Amino acid sequence: MDDFDRLLERERDALSTYRHFSIGKTEWGQEIYCFALGEGKRSILLQGAMHAREYISSFVLFDLMEYLSHFYLPVKVYFIPIINKDGVALCIKGNKLKNTKKYQKMQKNINFFKKLSENDIKIAKNLLNRYDVSLLKSNGKGVDLNVNFDCDWGGGKHNFFAFPSLENYIGRAPCKAMENKSLISFTKKIMPSVTLSFHSKGEVFYYGYMGESREVRKKNKIYRHIIHKSTGYKAVYTKRSTGGYKDWCVMSLSIPAFTIELGEDSLSHPISSHHCHEIFAKVKSLVLDLSKELV
Ligand SMILES: [Zn+2]
Repeated sequence: MDDFDRLLERERDALSTYRHFSIGKTEWGQEIYCFALGEGKRSILLQGAMHAREYISSFVLFDLMEYLSHFYLPVKVYFIPIINKDGVALCIKGNKLKNTKKYQKMQKNINFFKKLSENDIKIAKNLLNRYDVSLLKSNGKGVDLNVNFDCDWGGGKHNFFAFPSLENYIGRAPCKAMENKSLISFTKKIMPSVTLSFHSKGEVFYYGYMGESREVRKKNKIYRHIIHKSTGYKAVYTKRSTGGYKDWCVMSLSIPAFTIELGEDSLSHPISSHHCHEIFAKVKSLVLDLSKELV
């Protein structure tokens, strides 16, 4: 059993335990599940594994969900643990797949590939042939989801424009990736009070965006102190991280948003699920602490 099988097992357990629904599908036709806990007018949205190799965030979110289910929550908490399911599958299973005979007949391989179009198979094979996909950040189509949002799209220092890649490829147009379309419409629908994007690594969190409204800046300041106090992670202001989900939340919807980088910097990508519990321990109070501020 590898980390991807473990992750799907966690997802299956959660589906049979918590209130849930699908917010849409990935590029390869996989459901993107959202789980909901708590009641209240205000809500917090948490999502993980936007970057494939940072799937430790999915494990931490499943742990967090279980932990929070034992508390009374005066706000709604929405969890989207595996937004980039295709990328995570490719990251964990891809390198092993390359050394098998089945690789030549891609359609017969890991379940996701069955439904792929000829073009998607070509892109996936190109990624597998060209790179060490255990370091993949992008989705199954080689688009880096966290530079594909419509917020100064293509204006980032490391943006890559040419072709599908391990990371930084912005896609042909903003918000075209299916995963992002789903996340955008769901965010607009629920209009959360704050969004937390879980990435890895470094034990820091990013906040803000140049040009943010005064209102957002004020709230950011309050939430920032809570996040720092709760996790011990260092707050870092991002002046111009373009095309990210956090950036889009701040600029398009005026929602305070944070990117939280889980795990010590000394750990290597991808961080194995064995580290989940020690990482979870540092962030487990975060949602409870934030929810007290929101009511
Ligand atoms: Zn990331």
